Amino acid sequence: MVVGLGTNAGTYSLDEVLYSLWLAYGNCCFVGAWQCLACWLAFLGPRYFLFPIELLLRKQRLVDRFLPSTYFPRVRALIENTTLYKVLRQMPKGGALHLHVSASFSMTWVVNQGADDPPLGSLAFYNATQAPRACRCRARRSEGCAPGTHVLIQKDKDFPQKLLKLLTVHEEDESLTSAEIWKKFADIFIRVAGFFTYREALEGYFWATMLEFLEDGVTHLEFRVDLFHDQGFLFDLDGREYRGAAALDVYQKQIQKMQVRHPELTVKLIGTSIRMRSPQVIAEDLAFALEVKAQRPDLLVGWDAPGEEDAGHPTLDYARQLLELKKQAKAGLELPLMLHDGESDWSTMNTVDAVLLGAKRLGHGFNIVRHPLLMEKVREDGVAIEVCPISNQVLRYLSDLRIHPGLQMLKMGLPVTISSDDPGIWGARGLSHDFWEVAVAWQLNTRALKTLARNSRLGLKGISELLLNRTFKATELEIFPGHFVTKR
Ligand SMILES: [Zn+2]
Repeated sequence: MVVGLGTNAGTYSLDEVLYSLWLAYGNCCFVGAWQCLACWLAFLGPRYFLFPIELLLRKQRLVDRFLPSTYFPRVRALIENTTLYKVLRQMPKGGALHLHVSASFSMTWVVNQGADDPPLGSLAFYNATQAPRACRCRARRSEGCAPGTHVLIQKDKDFPQKLLKLLTVHEEDESLTSAEIWKKFADIFIRVAGFFTYREALEGYFWATMLEFLEDGVTHLEFRVDLFHDQGFLFDLDGREYRGAAALDVYQKQIQKMQVRHPELTVKLIGTSIRMRSPQVIAEDLAFALEVKAQRPDLLVGWDAPGEEDAGHPTLDYARQLLELKKQAKAGLELPLMLHDGESDWSTMNTVDAVLLGAKRLGHGFNIVRHPLLMEKVREDGVAIEVCPISNQVLRYLSDLRIHPGLQMLKMGLPVTISSDDPGIWGARGLSHDFWEVAVAWQLNTRALKTLARNSRLGLKGISELLLNRTFKATELEIFPGHFVTKR
C-alpha cells in the first residue's frame, strides 16, 4: 500500500497507513467505543495504541532540510503538501486557548475585503484610537480625507500585494533579531487597528475566523480582545460607538449565530490591556475590565497584559494592581489571570511572578523550564501553558523547534496546550500547522497528540467553573475523557 508524504513521497508500510487512518478518523472518542476504528486499533494491542510517529518521520530525517528547524514562512507550503498535514487537519484538536482576535485569520481576507467590499473599501487602514476614517469623512463630508483602498487600487493595481506584504511576515524576516521582528509586529497591529474599529469589518473577520478553526477540527476558541478603558472601541459608519459590554455583545451576536450552525462550538473572550502601559493606567484598565465582567460574566473569562516582555513593564510593576483584583475575587467577582509571561530568552522572573500571583494560565511560558520547583507547582495547580511553537520561532526566540521547551514540559506532565497566537500574520491556518511542527519536531506519538488536544479542553475545568456552562461540560467530558495531565 502506498501513501504520499508530499515532497518526500514514497512507499510506506501498513503501519504508516494505519497511523494516518487513525488520525484521520475525526470522531475518535478514544474510550473504546465499538464503532470507533481507532479504538479497535487500540484494542489490538499496545503496538497500535502507542503507534510511533517515527515511522512517518523516517524519511523526514534524511532530507537535507528538516522542516521544523527552518523558518516557518520558508516551509509553510512544503508542510501543507504532506499527508501528515492533511491528516492533522482532520484530527479533533480541542481548543485554541491563545489567539489575538485581529490576527487569528488570514490577512489576505483583510486586504481583499478592504479592496472589494464597499463600504470597507472606503476605509483607511490606520487611526487606531478613533472612529474609522470613512465614518468621519461621510459624517462631515470633509475634503482632504485619506483615500480608501478602492481609490488606491485605481491608482496602483499592485496596491493589494504591497499592503499584504506590510501585514505579514516573510522568508527574509528570518534575518531579523527578536527586537526587530517585534517592531514589525507592532507596526502590523497598528496598521490593522483602524480597520478593526469598524464593527462590520470585525464581524466579518471574526465570523471567517470561527469557520476557519471549525474546519480545522477546533471546537473551543478563546480570543484575547482589547479592553482598554480609554480606547479601542468599535464604531458604525454613522458614528455609533460600542464600548465595554456593548463591544463584547458584537462578538456574542456572531458567536450565537455560528452556534446555530455549529452547536459544538464554544467561544470565550479574554480582556487585555498591554504591558507597555503604566501601572496606574493598567489599574484603570483592570477596573474597566471588572465592570465589563460584572455585566457579561459568561463571555469574559479572563484578563491579560500581552506585549513584548523584554521591552514592556515587568509583571512585578503591576503586581499590586493584580493583587487588588484577587481581593475583588474574594468579594465574588472573579476575573482569572491568563498572563502572557515566560516569553523571553532573558529574564524568567515574570514567569515566577505570574505563578505566585495565581495566574490560571501562562501565555507561552516557555522559560519555565529553568525553574523545576515552579514547574512542579504549575503541575499541581493545573496551570495550563499555552505553547505557541510557530509564534516563538517567527519571533526569533529559537530557530529549531526540536529544542523548544514545550517537549520537556509535556514529558514532565505539565498541562501543555498548543495554540497559534497570530496565525494570520504568518499564513498558518487554525492549529494544524502548529500541531504538524510539534508532531514532527518532538516526534510525538498518537497518544501525545491526543493529550495535547485533551489538555486544551479538560484544562478549562481546572481553571474555573465560570468558564463552563452545563452543555459544554457534558459534551466535552464525553469527547475528551481522561486526566488533565499526561500519564507517564
Ligand atoms: Zn499572544
